[in-house]
Amino acid sequence: MKVVIIGGVAGGATAAARLRRLDEGAEIVILERTGYVSYANCGLPYFVGGVITDRDELTLQTPEGFRRRFGIDVRVGHEALEINPAEHTVEVRSLADGSTYTESYDKLILSPGARPVKPGLPGEDDPRVFTLRTVEDTFRIRDYLDTHPVRRAVVVGGGFIGLEAAENLLHAGVATTLLQKGDQVLPPLDPDMAAEVHAYLRGCGVELRLGAHVTGFVPDGEGLSVTLEGGEAVPADLVLLGIGVMPESELARSAGLALGVKGTIAVDEHMRTSCPDIYAVGDAVEVRHFVSGAKSHIALAGPANKQGRIAADHICGIPSTFTGSQGTSVIKLFDMTAASTGLNEKTARAAGVDYGKAVTYSASHATYYPGAHNMTVKTLYDPATGRILGAQIVGFDGVDKRMDVLATAIRAGLTAADLTELDLAYAPPYGSAKDPVNMAGYVIENLRAGRVEQHHWDEVAGLPADGSVVLLDVRTPGEVRRQGLLRPDAVNIPLDELRNRLGELDPSKKIYVNCFSGLRSYLACRILSQHGYRCSNLAGGWRFWSYNATDRAHDAAPTHLCGIPTGQGK
Ligand code: FAD
Repeated sequence: MKVVIIGGVAGGATAAARLRRLDEGAEIVILERTGYVSYANCGLPYFVGGVITDRDELTLQTPEGFRRRFGIDVRVGHEALEINPAEHTVEVRSLADGSTYTESYDKLILSPGARPVKPGLPGEDDPRVFTLRTVEDTFRIRDYLDTHPVRRAVVVGGGFIGLEAAENLLHAGVATTLLQKGDQVLPPLDPDMAAEVHAYLRGCGVELRLGAHVTGFVPDGEGLSVTLEGGEAVPADLVLLGIGVMPESELARSAGLALGVKGTIAVDEHMRTSCPDIYAVGDAVEVRHFVSGAKSHIALAGPANKQGRIAADHICGIPSTFTGSQGTSVIKLFDMTAASTGLNEKTARAAGVDYGKAVTYSASHATYYPGAHNMTVKTLYDPATGRILGAQIVGFDGVDKRMDVLATAIRAGLTAADLTELDLAYAPPYGSAKDPVNMAGYVIENLRAGRVEQHHWDEVAGLPADGSVVLLDVRTPGEVRRQGLLRPDAVNIPLDELRNRLGELDPSKKIYVNCFSGLRSYLACRILSQHGYRCSNLAGGWRFWSYNATDRAHDAAPTHLCGIPTGQGK
């Protein structure tokens, strides 16, 4: 059997290695357009920033290494030009000398990935406008930084690659402006969770401009002017375009293979395309969203690796299946970590999925042990069953492990009640006896059982101001002095005085309670409701409200020095 693989990185290299492990007799050929095979895409931004300094660290395997260990014929600098499914052949060009040849196959695996979107803006082909996908792109940017006096950079796009690039450009000593067309960075997060990220990035020195619609790039002396809708121009010595990726499906399209959403290649659960003997995997293919079932394009390394293995299995007679992607992702932003899995509010609404949400603020480990940091956890659940639908976490320590637990919970179809029962590892340096994941479960269970009602940050401004309701703040007077009230008409009764001062509250009026994070106000709600008051708890507290209420002001109120989250109170 002869298997040809187009694309020799995440999906392609995985498929090749698995094929060899399953079939010692197969002839395996990898065609890779760039000069590198099995390179570490995810590590590329860190070479730009000088965090990774050894060029060899970026490649996990060399063509020679592949040949030696796996007996695989790896042809770097070879581009597949055309597939002829009827003949079972691929037209190939050697980029070294431009010569072309025909390669035959019994089975073909496409793993061509996704390319950076270039929207066709005037000036985007200027040599000072870069994209970041390959090892060559990375070296080009690094070499430019090393050989030119780059003082100011503009990154266009606030997705994973744009943000990692911005961090690394700052790390390389370059003042960096990040222009984002929409109202938030990191689309896997909801805007209310991204607000904290915005404040932090600004605190780290990223000049973050939301709602900035780039119209083009104009040469300006040694640098460029990045022009914005409205006429403003932002100066830059270097521009990095990171406005998303699109599947490289041209080969599949011209071969007549069925396509899916957003130009992806349609595949079945074994990663087979519409054409017998051709498989496709990775960033180029359509996947089923594991939670909503919606056909989606989710470009991440984990699914690409899994799919490469599944395609190889199926070729070798093992009926492995890909059961869908839930988009679990994590990103380091300076000292902050942001992670998500499953549905967020935007994707739930788009898929017509009914959801409830809880916002919790929990310590990464026992607070008496040094180094604990709180994390904001937003969990979406099915109101009818309590099944966990999605989660987002922003914090500084222990975010990744909580996200992995929640991702696993979603995969296993667990409910909020199940989260309360998870028996998770605990010792003071690592966690809390009530882990943040347990806490999310407790809060959702309280909401579902009606033990507490909640309202959200965006409802605060619209609460009646005519005296018909009470806004009650149960923080200490010191906190209120430092941080301010949600609204001037809010009254402050600290939690520990509440039982003795209930007489100050009118039992005929509904009470909207807040504290710093939502915990003390929950306790207050329990006191109030057991004394016959109707009340509601502000989800996420003053802190969550404050990030969001001040997000557009460019000087977000909660203080966040880079790497040093403040406000650890409850
Ligand atoms: P790729 O790994 O992109 O490989 C496709 C290869 O096919 C390319 O090398 C391309 O040159 C080659 N190719 C395409 N067309 C042809 C052709 N006609 N002939 C020959 N060769 C061809 N994902 C995460 O989950 N976490 C991260 O932290 C993360 N960070 C990232 C950072 C960067 C800078 C980038 C660019 C991506 C990052 N990703 C991350 C995404 C992740 O790298 C991809 O999801 C994954 O590599 C997809 O695997 P793939 O095999 O589909 O495509």
